[in-house]
This record gives sequence, structure tokens and C-alpha cells, in this order.
Amino acid sequence: MSETRRRFLQELGGLGAAAWAVPFLGAARSGAAPAPPPGRKLGVALVGLGSLSANQLAPALQKTSLCALTGLVSGHPDKAREWAARYGVPDKSIYTYESFDRIKDNPDIDVVYVVLPNSMHAEFTIRAAQAGKHVLCEKPMAISVKECDAMIAACQAARRKLAIGYRLHFEPNNLEMARLAREKVFGAVKVIDAAAGFRIGDPAQWRLDKALSGGGSLLDIGIYALQAARYIAGEEPVAVSAQWSITDPVKFKPGVDESVLFTLRFPSGIVANCSSSYATGLGRFWAGAERGWFEVDPALWYNGIKGRMSGPQGQGPQAFDFPAIDQFAAEMDDFADCVLHDKPTRVPGEEGRRDQRIMAAIYEAAEAGKTVALA
Ligand code: NDP
Repeated sequence: MSETRRRFLQELGGLGAAAWAVPFLGAARSGAAPAPPPGRKLGVALVGLGSLSANQLAPALQKTSLCALTGLVSGHPDKAREWAARYGVPDKSIYTYESFDRIKDNPDIDVVYVVLPNSMHAEFTIRAAQAGKHVLCEKPMAISVKECDAMIAACQAARRKLAIGYRLHFEPNNLEMARLAREKVFGAVKVIDAAAGFRIGDPAQWRLDKALSGGGSLLDIGIYALQAARYIAGEEPVAVSAQWSITDPVKFKPGVDESVLFTLRFPSGIVANCSSSYATGLGRFWAGAERGWFEVDPALWYNGIKGRMSGPQGQGPQAFDFPAIDQFAAEMDDFADCVLHDKPTRVPGEEGRRDQRIMAAIYEAAEAGKTVALA
């Protein structure tokens, strides 16, 4: 067994994967919410039974050690009833968006997982916190910094934890990228190249409706390139420049970008060249350091992420060697562990807010055609 694989397995034991948390990530607010009795799994309610919930989260919940699917929130009662039968959720734990606030009276639900279109994240996070539930909210956290502030404040006021669904913070190859950079295994990183994209289909979907999406490819998929640049650099960017493009004006209306290319400058002088697109498949994070390079490609798939790094002189690249994991199961178990043991999450609301602020600056830079400083 390789050294990297052995180390990952050791760290993973007993959910020790938290020890891999990248240190620049801010600490979560400490919630002193009462923990459920020992031995009981944390009950999770999924809000929005769309593609991610159906294909990733519900199956992942079956693989978690610390969580169970105990609640369903949907605008389609028939679908919710089908889900309830399949997953053994009682009728009393099915809610609509209108009846959602009654979730406060349901002791079987500890965590609300918001899996709705982006513009609905703030409302349901705030309502969940006010109902006394911990919140996992999908990325992007919201559609404005102001909304992020309101979400953080609501969870703080209710003394409940808030985490953002940044699954790659639990994915071993991506964590290895951050470690290689942080420990300067190839010397200091100088240049980062991060690209994330997919070709979007149905023009009628909410992702292309600004009122529901809050933006275009950047908020949805380019956020992964931004995240990678930040967790590899291990610093916060001080300046951004950007250009965006729309080649299909029928599909992409103003305010919904098709592709955005952006550059980030970090305090140490690291520069990151990032791409985000709804026009084509992209998925590679690469870091060039003083004495070598390392990369993940594919970088952000649900399965099959692969990493490699430059080998010793005269030899070819060396592959990373990590076990495949279910990123969503790891993310939910980690959050449950944080709730159960009152520990900070590595992906708190503050982390989502940082991205939101930078993405606003990227749009500003693209629109103004100038570099925007991030104080
Ligand atoms: P879907 O369109 O597949 O599902 C969204 C669900 O939200 C719908 O099925 C519906 O559920 C509910 N909904 C409520 N109001 C509306 C509305 N006005 N229009 C459309 N849907 C509505 O989206 P996804 O599941 O792909 O994405 C949901 C969230 O998850 C997004 O924020 C996205 O960014 C994030 N995501 C994260 C991923 C990751 O890797 N971490 C991957 C994919 C998505 P119902 O019918 O039950 O009411």
C-alpha cells in the first residue's frame, strides 16, 4: 500500500478525516444545540427532491454511519409519498414548502439539507434555523453576500450549525492537492490553473433563469475552480480580473453567463487562471511549483477523480493512490460528527460567503473590464 493511501486510510478511521481540514478555512460558529441521545443517528430532511437529492444524496444517506433520511420537503406531494415509501419515511415527516415551518415540532429531524435552486437557499436556511434545525446548504451558498450574512446571522441566533455542501473538501485527491501545496512538497506553488464546466442542456431549466440561479456558470460550476484555486493557494485572493462570453444568446440571457475566464492574484504572488463554462466540459485543477507540478483530472466528478504529480527526474508522472469514497456520505457524516460533538465544520457559512464575495467581484471585473481589488 502506498504511503499516501495508508495515510488517508489512517486519517479516515473514526472520521478522523477532519484532521485533513485545510487550516485557512475559517472556524464555524459554535452551536451549543442539544445532541441527540448516544447511538441515535442524526435525522436529515432533504428539501427539494430534484436531481442531486435523487441521484446522489438519498443514496449517499444510505451509506452514512451517523445520518438517516427522516424527512422530505417537496412541492410535489405524490413524489414525496413515493420517496417516503421507498426510504421508510413516515407520512408525518413529509412537508411542502408552505408547511415547512412545522418541522420545528418534529424531533426526528435534526438537520435540514437545502437542495433547492440557488435563490431559495437563503429563505430555507433561515426558516430551518428558526425551526431549531442545523443546516447543510448546497453550493452556491446564496445569490448575494447580503443573503449569506442573513443566513449566518440566523444560524448564529438559533445556535445551530451551518455548513455548505462543498463535497470536494472531503475528496482525498483534492485534499492531497491542498496538502502538497501547504507542505511545499515541490517548493512554493507559483501558478494554478483551474477549470470547471459542463455543457448545459434544457434551455427552460432554472439554472438559466437569473431569478432562480442568481447568475450563470460561475455560481453553479465555476465555483469549483474558484474553490480549488483558494484551497491550493491556501490564501485569499487580493485582486480579480475577468472576461465573460455568451455565444448562444437564445439560451443565455443577460446576467446568465455562458463562460467566464477569471484570474486571481494572491498575496504571496501566486496567480490562478480559472475557467468556468456551461458551453463545454472542463474539469482539471493543476498547480505548478518551484520543483514540480501536481494535478487532479478529472477533478470534480462524483466518481473517478484522479490525481498525479511530477515524478523524480527521468521518470514519468506518479499517480495519487487513494481509495474511492462517496463524497456526499463523507460530507454528511462529517457534519453529523460536528453536530454530535459540537465541533466546527470545515465548510462553514463563512466559507460560502467568501466565495460569494469573490464571485461578485469577478462579475464586476468582467462587466467593467478592469481589475477589481479585494480588500
Ligand atoms: P434540480 O432542478 O434537479 O432540483 C431542484 C428541486 O428544487 C426541484 O426538483 C424541486 O423539487 C425544487 N424546486 C422548488 N422550487 C423550484 C423551482 N421554482 N424551480 C425548480 N425547482 C424547484 O436541481 P439540482 O438538484 O441539480 O440542484 C439543486 C441544488 O443543488 C442547486 O443549488 C445546485 O447548485 C446544487 N448542486 C450541487 C451539486 C454538488 O455536486 N454539490 C451538484 C448538483 C447540484 P420538488 O419537485 O421536490 O419540489
